[in-house]
Amino acid sequence: AQEINQYEGVKQKDEQYIWHAMKPYNPGGTIVVTKGEGAWITDVDGNKYLDGMSGLWCVNIGYGRTELAEVAYEQIKELAYYPLSQSHIAAVKLGEKLNEMLDDEYVIFFSNSGSEANETAFKIARQYHKQNGEHQRYKFVSRYRAYHGNTMGALAATGQAQRKYKYEPLAPGFVHVAPPDSYRSNDKQDGKPHELESVQALDRTMIWELGETIAGVIMEPIITGGGILMPPDNYLKGVKEVCEKNGALLIVDEVICGFGRTGKLFGFMNYNVKPDIITMAKGLTSGYLPLSATAVRREIYEAFKGTEEYDYFRHVNTFGGTPAACALALKNIEIMEKENLTERSFQLGEQLKCELNMLLEDHPYVGDVRGKGLLVGIELVKNKDTKEPINVNVVNQVIANCKKNGLIIGKNGATVAGFNNVLTLAPPLNLTDDDLTFIVRTLTDALYEVAGIGKK
Ligand code: PMP
Repeated sequence: AQEINQYEGVKQKDEQYIWHAMKPYNPGGTIVVTKGEGAWITDVDGNKYLDGMSGLWCVNIGYGRTELAEVAYEQIKELAYYPLSQSHIAAVKLGEKLNEMLDDEYVIFFSNSGSEANETAFKIARQYHKQNGEHQRYKFVSRYRAYHGNTMGALAATGQAQRKYKYEPLAPGFVHVAPPDSYRSNDKQDGKPHELESVQALDRTMIWELGETIAGVIMEPIITGGGILMPPDNYLKGVKEVCEKNGALLIVDEVICGFGRTGKLFGFMNYNVKPDIITMAKGLTSGYLPLSATAVRREIYEAFKGTEEYDYFRHVNTFGGTPAACALALKNIEIMEKENLTERSFQLGEQLKCELNMLLEDHPYVGDVRGKGLLVGIELVKNKDTKEPINVNVVNQVIANCKKNGLIIGKNGATVAGFNNVLTLAPPLNLTDDDLTFIVRTLTDALYEVAGIGKK
């Protein structure tokens, strides 16, 4: 009780001083969190919640890992800061480790956020083509419904108009195509790359936009924030072929999909392609400190080794790759490896989908349960034949009901502006078996209660 008293008045002060992200989209009210352990967080009132969204798809190795705090503390004592215009040991070690994980030769540029990692990728891609004398290549193609960040370039790449229109004009030179969507489009899951409508759509866009004006294509392996949209198995391979045909670089945004989330080390590894540039953030440190990275294929980096000073990459990031963040990221990766969290993500993800499918098969609103690893979406519809999205109020009721019963889940997927009809789950990868049971029970109970029917 003493601990609860210590936080008296905090909620009112929070209302007064803190501008929350996405405030109107917080069904069940704001919680002020004080601590975390494993997959669970505690709020100022002493309530415990299973964090089914790992914060914001961040905390892959779970909360309360004191080893990470110790590593950061030791590193700050040794060397608090040095910019990467020079170098330091923790950055070198992390660069080497990421190369080993990416299974090819990449050179790493560090920043602090996913948005910055993507901005860095855009600048590298544009300058790379200029270094090669192709001054007309400046455009980027991305997908509708994808999210790539909040800055003027990353938001321009984002394909969700409702997030953008109040802030326009954004950076020019961004073009969008429709994404694949295993639930709503006609592509066969095992279709050949060039036979997929979603690949053909990209191909045509390249023709209409003039292939030689395209600097790059950016995409997540699986669209996450747009509603866990699953591509056909050969989609990314087809995208890579279209990129190669047009001389455009393939930038893969692994900000959410990376670091075990989809049951592979990186999301693209599910699809057997080699990206030219890979951006990563959240899971790189599991959210314990800010750090992001833009990994660039070595031969692209080589093009920047001109003889004149103006050939350099004119981009600097003061806090990108601080010694403590890099050292902590290494420890985070070491824990992932030691505890086989990527494999665990795959297995628990399969189990979660299987149990949800079984229990929700006859639920009138559940149109689709999908995902890879511990990245799962449940699409709610009014009518399973027409697939008309359910009203967002119903989605909010499910989320609020889960919250009331100790489970935090998300909602995503702007099928139409205003419809966020995909419930999302991305819990920490070190989820226990009991945690998984708790998620399944709480979520299915909430769905049946909101629909006003008894459980199967
Ligand atoms: N890319 C993707 C796929 C993301 O989900 C996000 C953040 N949710 C970003 C980029 C931007 O990351 P940040 O918020 O760290 O700038």
